[in-house]
Amino acid sequence: MAKVKHRQFGGLPPKYSFMVNPYLEERVSRCPLCDLKTGQRKIPILIHVNPQHLITLNYTCRFCRNCDLLIAHKHEIEYYLTALFSQQAPDDIGNEYLAIGTVEKSAWKEGLKQQQSLDKLLSHTSDFATCYQELQITRAGYYQADQKSPIAVPLPSQDWVKKNL
Ligand SMILES: [Zn+2]
Repeated sequence: MAKVKHRQFGGLPPKYSFMVNPYLEERVSRCPLCDLKTGQRKIPILIHVNPQHLITLNYTCRFCRNCDLLIAHKHEIEYYLTALFSQQAPDDIGNEYLAIGTVEKSAWKEGLKQQQSLDKLLSHTSDFATCYQELQITRAGYYQADQKSPIAVPLPSQDWVKKNL
């Protein structure tokens, strides 16, 4: 599966592989890489939202222990972002965003109590070691022998969309 590169933000060594699941109904109960059963891991995810918001979302990902892979559900993430931004920055709802890495739980908790500087936050952040492209699944059904099964088209964003002004 293709990997995506970006510059490093976090001060801690990179950690975890990361993938987004864009399918509303897909629970990813098996790992897309190794096919073992996935579990769950609740972890603060650092997300950059254009133009310049950094959000830490304590979010329960699907997790494959074998691959060290966190899988986030796109529609859930966007639901939480929309709830947050409708209070703080409604004009930026629907902007491009990127999950960067994970924040240490202790630092995240401290940040809830009092505002942290960006430097402090990033010093407790690990970028994802590997970012995969969005999960793609093939549509189940009957196909002719020489035909590849088509990729299922995920539902587009529901909450995280630009409102017509
Ligand atoms: Zn796996």
